[in-house]
Amino acid sequence: MKIESVDFFYLSMPEVLDIGDGSQDALLVRIRAGGHEGWGECEASPLTSIASYVCPTSHSACKPLKSSVEGRPVNDIKDIRKISQLVHEQSLDLLQADHTLSGIDIALYDLLGRLKNVPVFDLLGYKKVYPKIPYASQLFADTPEETFEKAKRTRADGFRAVKFGWGPFGKNISNDVDHLNAAREGAGPEMLLMIDAGTVWGDDVQEAASRLKALEEVNAYWLEEPFFNLSLQAYQSLSNVSQKVPLAGGEGCSNEAQARAMIDHGGIGFIQIDAGRVGGITAAHRLVKYASEKNVQYVNHTFTSNLALSASLQPYAGVDNFKISEYPVELKQLAKDIGNEKIERDAEGYIHVPQGAGLGVSVNIENLRKYIVDVEIKVQGKVIYQTPAN
Ligand SMILES: [Mg+2]
Repeated sequence: MKIESVDFFYLSMPEVLDIGDGSQDALLVRIRAGGHEGWGECEASPLTSIASYVCPTSHSACKPLKSSVEGRPVNDIKDIRKISQLVHEQSLDLLQADHTLSGIDIALYDLLGRLKNVPVFDLLGYKKVYPKIPYASQLFADTPEETFEKAKRTRADGFRAVKFGWGPFGKNISNDVDHLNAAREGAGPEMLLMIDAGTVWGDDVQEAASRLKALEEVNAYWLEEPFFNLSLQAYQSLSNVSQKVPLAGGEGCSNEAQARAMIDHGGIGFIQIDAGRVGGITAAHRLVKYASEKNVQYVNHTFTSNLALSASLQPYAGVDNFKISEYPVELKQLAKDIGNEKIERDAEGYIHVPQGAGLGVSVNIENLRKYIVDVEIKVQGKVIYQTPAN
């Protein structure tokens, strides 16, 4: 079976706001072969990623991704890994390559699963899969009172875990303490409470360390992204003084080497991997194994559709020790509309990786027409990319 077509669809909400919400636009990849199609989603800037797929060759290690993908065989996962390797060789100098590869790799796994009529986790060799504890991932509200209400609603909704992040957090310590206390009060004593600083302290260890006492007092399960991605020294320094609150990070890693560096040198307790950014399921699955070896907990990062959620769950679906899953609860309508099937919590509050073929979440592009951003890229008067007509 050979890849017959690779199509990109740039989708967006009518208005993109300047907030830490990655579900406002999306780039979907559709790959067809043998009468089937697979879908993937890049967690990336859509236009930039499309450009990396079609751009002119600059030199032998700076080629467009299409030169490593189109017409290649896709009969088993070795073929998908080969494509990933080829992209790294031929697009070595193209910084967007792993972002774009992520959606392609995910679509290839989905396609192969559908061709063989098995779930992606089965392709990865998992014979048994385990439920995950989804944490209701949401932004801090503008005021502590509203944060309290959000946490209370989440508890009433039956979640076992909740995460608050971004928004006003990190800018003023007394306001932060109020938000943390409000979150814990609303969530009650039992729920796991994760806090996401959204890189607000840059690489300022003192600023971050000054919040540790308050984080300990609310029994924070982790402190996420206190610093910019790959601020390794800052991460390491903070982890040395944070006795009770483990650090989490890694969602910003846009290739496997970055994630390994965070595991090896960041002092983190949790590595958060976005399969739509790190290089797809191929890279994420390798990082699951690496994290296991290094005694770091693997957690998915995902803040978009159920298609992306399924892709993020597959790489660690068969590892019982890695129990936590991000579960976005404030998606924009676009992200809600992307997958035809939904990953819902069971009566005990757990989620399960879909059992359907491929990712178990399908896409009907006709239902998403209203979100499509029409794009045409021209070089020397020649059209090198155009949004597919259907
Ligand atoms: Mg985060």
